[in-house]
Amino acid sequence: MKKKAVVLLSGGLDSVTCLAIAAKEKYALHALSFDYGQRHRVELALARENAEKAGAEFHLVSFRLGVPEASALTSKEAAVPDYIEGEHGIPATYVPARNLVFLSFAAALAESIGARDIFIGVNSIDYSGYPDCQPEFIRSSTETANLGTKAADEKWKFQIHAPLQNLKKHEIITLGLSLGVDYSRTHSCYNPSPDGRACGKCDSCGLRKAAFEYLGLTDPALGK
Ligand code: ZN
Repeated sequence: MKKKAVVLLSGGLDSVTCLAIAAKEKYALHALSFDYGQRHRVELALARENAEKAGAEFHLVSFRLGVPEASALTSKEAAVPDYIEGEHGIPATYVPARNLVFLSFAAALAESIGARDIFIGVNSIDYSGYPDCQPEFIRSSTETANLGTKAADEKWKFQIHAPLQNLKKHEIITLGLSLGVDYSRTHSCYNPSPDGRACGKCDSCGLRKAAFEYLGLTDPALGK
């Protein structure tokens, strides 16, 4: 029987690439997506589509993280900042404790279905400066998951895989293209139009647009 893996899947460029990596490793896949009141909820349709394409079972969890006005991604009023190349620091689009919560749900799903492997598409090279994307956070979450579950008693261990951790955005795209990812069917924009089109200006759009341009390509998710 195939080993099971839980893949955190937002429907964005990184997580869809991460799903393709896990698929190549021949796991029985369980994709896990979250509706946390994000303004770019359009990503969830693409998460489902990519999960189905990869033959993954799709799990969707809905909840709210703190109060909506704490993040530009969940607030109706706050403005999403534009992408500024080379800008670092924690931007207004940071969502309180997001990956801490996501990984907790992933550990719960994994433990309940007998999966030991969890995949998360975090990256700490070309990213928005979020603390919950850092390698130390992933290491510490792995340790916490192993301490806080039956794993400690039953002598098995979770492994949290972050295969994109040290890749530049254009390296992620090159890898994904080699695995057959269709990036026109991914959504990364923080601030899409009401009909779901990418804005081309936010941090997330800017990072992927620059990476496609570096490769001599046009981001296929833009202009649709
Ligand atoms: Zn955007």
